[in-house]
Amino acid sequence: MRDSLGRNINYLRLSITDRCNLRCRYCMPGDGVALAAHDELLRYEELLRVAEAAISLGIDRFKVTGGEPLVRRGCVDFVRSLKALPGVRQVTLTTNGLLLPPLLDGLCAAGLDGVNISLDTLDNAQYQRLTRRGHSADEVLRAVRLCAARLPTKVNAVLLPETADQLIPLAELAAQLPVGVRFIERMPLGAGESGRTVTADAALDRLRTRWPSLAPTDGICGNGPARYFHAEGMQGCIGLIDAVSHGFCSRCNRLRLTSTGFLKPCLCYEQGVDLKPLLRGSADDAALRDAICKAILQKPAAHCFTQRDHITEHHSMNQIGG
Ligand code: SAM
Ligand code: SF4
Repeated sequence: MRDSLGRNINYLRLSITDRCNLRCRYCMPGDGVALAAHDELLRYEELLRVAEAAISLGIDRFKVTGGEPLVRRGCVDFVRSLKALPGVRQVTLTTNGLLLPPLLDGLCAAGLDGVNISLDTLDNAQYQRLTRRGHSADEVLRAVRLCAARLPTKVNAVLLPETADQLIPLAELAAQLPVGVRFIERMPLGAGESGRTVTADAALDRLRTRWPSLAPTDGICGNGPARYFHAEGMQGCIGLIDAVSHGFCSRCNRLRLTSTGFLKPCLCYEQGVDLKPLLRGSADDAALRDAICKAILQKPAAHCFTQRDHITEHHSMNQIGG
């Protein structure tokens, strides 16, 4: 379905939990955030019902996210059920990777089409400071290597001043492995509200000191919000997501469903449509479809990350569903 500006909305990010086994500084406060009560989280059957209604409106790509999606029991079965819905073209997963290795066989068998693993630094001490739960970057790196051998794999790193020395080491992963390493500007949301970002352009300049032949590629590595680059000899590619400085809003194709069933047309604003009363009331499929259409038609022209006093979304990313 097209929104009021003619953008083709074909992608839905489904958050299946607000819980997480990490406390990344840019995402959540150290003592966590108030978590939704268990019965406030949508059940898997409810998520699948939303997916079916979305498919009937032309949405055919889904990303399973959170919080940390793999902390929710039944996630593999959910991926299988989602992928089996008629009309679904692609199901991918965004994860911090820590719980991934023992679930990888199951996820591959369930038909998962790709995985995005968040890893902001390869330095174990830095990783612990940033994620605040005693885990190491090596654990995540192991998951990246296992996935890269089985599935289309991307590594997502948020561009933070405190990890600026990791830009080239992380990008080296794209040289050594068939993965896309994507650097994402830190967005001023939730626990990230007051934090600074390194801009994607500054990151690109730095990367070109190591790979002077880094050149844009045309959709070879993906068609999402990233600008992709490749240098001779690289197995994978490098992506830059300038979510804040340039914005990709004119190409935005997505909606987000929070784990409690609130459908959001844009990260920046609190506006959206609460689907939970419909799912738990007597609404039929047509009413559910109408509610999704309403959210699509509410989609604003652009985010307002550069005018922070215009941001009306004050939940943290684990609650919104990053
Ligand atoms: N827990 C999973 C993970 O970390 O991949 C999935 C949920 S997490 C909220 C999704 C993505 O949002 C991660 O790649 C994370 O780095 C990113 N993220 C969280 N807060 C952010 C912020 N303030 N700016 C930019 N990206 C952010
Ligand atoms: Fe958890 Fe992901 Fe947020 Fe980190 S970014 S705290 S892993 S939800």
